[in-house]
Amino acid sequence: MATQVRTRFSPSPTGALHLGGAHTALFNWLFARHHGGVFILRIEDTDMERSQAHFVDEIMESLRWLGLLWDEGPYFQSRRLPLYDEFVQRLLAGGQAYCCDCDPQELEARRQAALARGDKPRYDGRCRERGLPLGPKTAVRFKTPQTGVTFWHDQIKGHIAFENQELDDLVIRRADGIPTYNFAVVVDDITMQVSHVIRGDDHISNTPRQLLIYQALGAEPPLFAHMPLMLGKDRTKLSKRHGALPVLAYRDRGILPQALNNYLARLGWSHGDQEIFSMEELIRYFSLEHVGKAPGIHDEDKLLWLNSHYLKETPPAELGRLLLPFLAREGIATDDVAKAARVAATLNKRAKTLVEMAQAARFYYQDPRPYDEEAAARYLTPAAAPVLSLALERFRAGAELTEEGLTALLKELARETGRKVVEVAQPLRVALTGRAASPSLTELIPILGREETCRRLENALHFIGKDV
Ligand code: GLU
Repeated sequence: MATQVRTRFSPSPTGALHLGGAHTALFNWLFARHHGGVFILRIEDTDMERSQAHFVDEIMESLRWLGLLWDEGPYFQSRRLPLYDEFVQRLLAGGQAYCCDCDPQELEARRQAALARGDKPRYDGRCRERGLPLGPKTAVRFKTPQTGVTFWHDQIKGHIAFENQELDDLVIRRADGIPTYNFAVVVDDITMQVSHVIRGDDHISNTPRQLLIYQALGAEPPLFAHMPLMLGKDRTKLSKRHGALPVLAYRDRGILPQALNNYLARLGWSHGDQEIFSMEELIRYFSLEHVGKAPGIHDEDKLLWLNSHYLKETPPAELGRLLLPFLAREGIATDDVAKAARVAATLNKRAKTLVEMAQAARFYYQDPRPYDEEAAARYLTPAAAPVLSLALERFRAGAELTEEGLTALLKELARETGRKVVEVAQPLRVALTGRAASPSLTELIPILGREETCRRLENALHFIGKDV
């Protein structure tokens, strides 16, 4: 094994980066960081028809947003074709690969016939010993040993073995000159000196094929660690049906990257009973020994729970900055970070996402009318008018807009109007925020300011039918 830990994340840019991909990327990143190693980004774009440049951008943007920065790359397989050819030539020269001119349609017919006979559909080895030269219509196949066993000690799953006779002579270079996945990956992992291949366990059946190619090339294979795939609540492969979204959709829903990282880290990996981890802690504690064999089940509520936690933990100034684009999406155009920070500090105990927070922040920036109907019917009644009038009078007269000042004022208003504090607070709350639930009045009134508070009280009195 190479002395330096080198891991890679190697997505195919045929779609956005989803939770499963981010999970794999995170584990590779954490493992590299834990060992002071190198994390490589490799774009596996040999499927020219399905690969798209905008997916590459999206994948990189997702990784940057998560903070999973790569030390090397991005390498693009599509730009490394001469290198793969060189390795193909080596195998051909060594007699470990051969050219094959079987017609794809005919191969398919033979496959179907094998299936119909109840046989395994595998290449029948027709071109194995023909010694065909490489030409424009020939594919290259790997000469898989027909006997023996290929095994490895998986860093997560333990001992895994495959009978070589189960593996047929796979195509390593198609007739159009493009290498196939199993071959390109081996050439890349050798030349990039990857020490640990950490990937989804849907790749387990590829590993014996890859190991045989290492062997044929006389190269030492990396260590393999196959992570259990993430599943939905019904224990089927995670998909949209389970509400799983691309990484950037979580960003747009107001999830914080730290919450998503923490969430993904705990899927399949544990460190005692601890649930909340800073990135530093994840790096410090991460190890493959504590990755379980059982799949992690996607649980949106847990993600939201973690997000609430991180919303509370994020310093207000930072939260204010994060909130601005979400306010803009609610139609609230502001670049006042300082105010957004004060606003966020009153909302971060309840909101589960930045989207919810921006929605709850609306009253700070816009007139609260129309009032929530139920709240207005209940609290903005003629009986409330004396409270609102008196409050207006006090604010006009210069009541102190501090937490202590306002706490005292609410008590005073209650005493003077012969009510309980909550009976005073609710009409004020609806007048100022339009709703029956809001951050505390003593927090929100200083942010609204005297003028705006007075204006809203006047409007509420008009609403009740009282002239002011
Ligand atoms: N491109 C492969 C995928 O997206 C990566 C497989 C590997 O890590 O070897 O699944």
